[in-house]
Amino acid sequence: MRYADAGYNLEIDLATGNIEKVASNIKDTEDYLGGLGTNAKIIWERVPADAQAFSDDNILIFSAGLLCGTPAYGANRTIITSISPQTKLLAFSMTGGFFAPELKQAGYDKLILKGKSPNWVYIYINNDKVEIRDATHLLGKSTYETLEAIRDEIKDPRAQGLSIGLAGENRVFFASIETHRGSASRLGLGAVMGDKKVKAVVVRGTKDLSLAKPMEFMQECDKVLKYMLYRLENPIKGVPPILSLIGSPQEMLLHDEEWHTNNFAWGNARVRRKNFWNSEIERQWAETQERARKKLISCYNCPIRCAGIIELPGFPTYVMKCYSKITYTMAAMVDSLEFGLKIAAKAQHYGVDGFTTPQVMAFALELYENGILTDSDLEGMPKDSKEEQFFWLLDRIVRREGIGDILADGVYWAARRIGKGAEQFDRNTIKKHEQIPIKLGMLNPIYYIMWSTGEKANITQIEGQLPQAPFPSRELKEEFIKDWIQIPTGKEERFKNFILEWGEEGKNFPFWPSPDLIAELVEWQELMHYVDDSLGLCAGLSSFPLKPPYHIHNLPLFIQYATGIEYDEQKLWNTASRIRNLVRAINIRRGLRREDEKPPEDHWKKRFPEYEQKLLDEYYNYKGWDSRGIPKKETLERLGLGYVAEEFEECGVYNDKA
Ligand code: SF4
Repeated sequence: MRYADAGYNLEIDLATGNIEKVASNIKDTEDYLGGLGTNAKIIWERVPADAQAFSDDNILIFSAGLLCGTPAYGANRTIITSISPQTKLLAFSMTGGFFAPELKQAGYDKLILKGKSPNWVYIYINNDKVEIRDATHLLGKSTYETLEAIRDEIKDPRAQGLSIGLAGENRVFFASIETHRGSASRLGLGAVMGDKKVKAVVVRGTKDLSLAKPMEFMQECDKVLKYMLYRLENPIKGVPPILSLIGSPQEMLLHDEEWHTNNFAWGNARVRRKNFWNSEIERQWAETQERARKKLISCYNCPIRCAGIIELPGFPTYVMKCYSKITYTMAAMVDSLEFGLKIAAKAQHYGVDGFTTPQVMAFALELYENGILTDSDLEGMPKDSKEEQFFWLLDRIVRREGIGDILADGVYWAARRIGKGAEQFDRNTIKKHEQIPIKLGMLNPIYYIMWSTGEKANITQIEGQLPQAPFPSRELKEEFIKDWIQIPTGKEERFKNFILEWGEEGKNFPFWPSPDLIAELVEWQELMHYVDDSLGLCAGLSSFPLKPPYHIHNLPLFIQYATGIEYDEQKLWNTASRIRNLVRAINIRRGLRREDEKPPEDHWKKRFPEYEQKLLDEYYNYKGWDSRGIPKKETLERLGLGYVAEEFEECGVYNDKA
């Protein structure tokens, strides 16, 4: 008997219409958990190294994490995996909401889409009954309208869905896949779904899921809930308000945006407005937010309520959370939060990424200001208002109309298509993907490694656990570390000393802390994300915030009590390392090398090229990778990835013939 996972994947060949329910191997659950871990194994085995995002042999996997569908709080992530049209590397993006638990309850851990459909379709899964249905009548509908129309059609308001909008239909490289309570927005998976001509996937499941040790599991859940409630009442002192709580940063609840608006770059990651935030702006933004936000809501089985339902007259209703609240406002360099919330409504209904899209539009306007794009390129664009220009550009991008067709490829590719020096304005991509626009003064060596080497190319899904700056006083440092139980075993003294010493004389970035401690701190942060992405846990309750409810000590118990598979801290660490290395191996096989691992030149004002290379050497060495960033044979074998090493040898990766 299988516990916690359904034990079956649903595989659909879109070209032939063949639908199969395929049993999965329990050994893979033990070795790779679920979600991203088992997705990566499938991609490694089935997707050729030269397959592109839009080629027939690319696949698109929608996976519930291993704990989804169990009573574990916040275990609701759908992990969507494929090849990115933008980076050409592995894309893995997550969304919260209700889809993953519903998929599990329908009896499947994953939906795997192969090939391409000749006509527009949607997939309807109702427990054992699976249909590929015509979606021609849904074309042009927004992400939200699509799901509502399908729910009406199947007469089941409780069905859970994922859909694409116009952007996905038109294969915009940064198209998202949306659900009613979240988005899988990074790395263009909506474009892959559109390329396969799948407008939506809708699921209804009413089956039970078994737990190996239900009593013990529920006791752990109770402890987590108690701690979550404690953390909500006891914010961390000495950090900005949005970093003091748990969950996705509570942007829908809080009004204080000083940290983002003063520290992040505005426009096309161009300038900081260090004195932007003041009491008058705070009053205006609070008024806008309270007026627009109708209700705070949560994902499946979570009491945290990070998201808000946003309604503004003349714009469609949508759900907002996190930093996307202000990305459009900041990119357009206007002072109005209302503008940002309004354009985000359209953007989410079109189905585009709230981090990349504003930067692409700001990039276009910067090219215009510098004479690289001209009036004839932007014919019809309003002249006087940045806000109207943004709305105009958004409409062109999602339809791939005129200049929108070029911009729809994202900053990196658009700059190269436009030429005429546009490449110089590609100032905020890593691995061809737009990053959060943080441009600070002094090199941060910990973030340097994370920005450079993260496979996801998205810092919020690599970082976590550590404050962003030293605590301002010894008292606050001591208070923070006194119950810092989340640290991995054996690292307590080193990590606590890091917090205590950070900010003292001579204990500041960039030449402090030591490179080996930097590597350890990075590894802890990134590995916890690999755990979450495989278990289907919300990062906001585990890998992202300070002092989260889930951590390396209680997660092995959740796995063990859910699945019946023996797990302890060391085994979980090894599993996360295995998944991290497999994901890297997929990218290495696709050509990723050391030269791709660099933050933009102006990412920090003060850079130290030789030292940065030393840091990279140290991190690679710590990970058991060679100087080109390729996992060594002995590293792969130690992690049970001998089959990867064999293929690396066969196809000449180690000799750099590949
Ligand atoms: S913490 Fe927030 S984002 Fe995470 S599951 Fe709960 S409601 Fe959703």
